[in-house]
Amino acid sequence: MIFCDTHAHLNDVSIIDSLDELLLNARAAGVQKIVIPATDRKTSEQIIRLTATRPDVFSAVGIHPNDSAKAAPDDWDAVVELTRSELANGNAGKIVAVGESGLDRYWDDAPMKVQLDYLNRHLDLAREFDLPIILHCREAEDDLIPALQAYRQKTGWLKGILHSFSSDVHNLELYLELGLYVGFGGMITYKQKKFDPVRDAAFAAPLDRILIETDCPYLTPSPMRGKVEFNQSAYVVHTAQKLAEIKKTTLEEIANATTENAVRLLNI
Ligand SMILES: [Zn+2]
Repeated sequence: MIFCDTHAHLNDVSIIDSLDELLLNARAAGVQKIVIPATDRKTSEQIIRLTATRPDVFSAVGIHPNDSAKAAPDDWDAVVELTRSELANGNAGKIVAVGESGLDRYWDDAPMKVQLDYLNRHLDLAREFDLPIILHCREAEDDLIPALQAYRQKTGWLKGILHSFSSDVHNLELYLELGLYVGFGGMITYKQKKFDPVRDAAFAAPLDRILIETDCPYLTPSPMRGKVEFNQSAYVVHTAQKLAEIKKTTLEEIANATTENAVRLLNI
């Protein structure tokens, strides 16, 4: 069985020193393709360097909504330039997506107006190269979904991943209508009742539109949660196992479906 972790912050300062060990662990668990999303200009540059010299890992470049207010005025132009030059020169940095972008009302790190402006910049860059956009959404579905609907209406384009899905069946259907893939992470393994709507959405989501992810070093799935210091890509198998239980199918079918989806969408 082959698994893909479509959202792993392997460049995070807390785990970067163990990067090669974590990649070996991932390999041993069957996790053979991993997307590392950037959160700002510096990490966009860093991730491209990391992926250029290592198999199994791929880059996404962008500025996280929670970092958008902190970004210097020329940071965005630098991300765009980096993307254009990589893609024009053989893409050694293996850029396969734009992000992570999106909207976040939970942390309140940036005014919504700034977050929306950055979201639209990311959408334009993704559309320029027909790359999927990686979308973060925390307590902001009522802003994000209309913004995506408006963008698709205006341009006729939308392609991407709603990562770390944390909402309900109603919003799942709206994301699916927009043509997005949906990434499920450790949350579906957590026992608390408040995650039941996420599990209901996982049950309802069609097999050909789901992805699995760790969002490591955060959101360690059960049964590793509480036993280890940080999450890592190898643990995505636990999320896949839970998804198989929820969807009343086999781990193999989840592995095959999510890997096929990742390969088709991200061209990895
Ligand atoms: Zn993330």
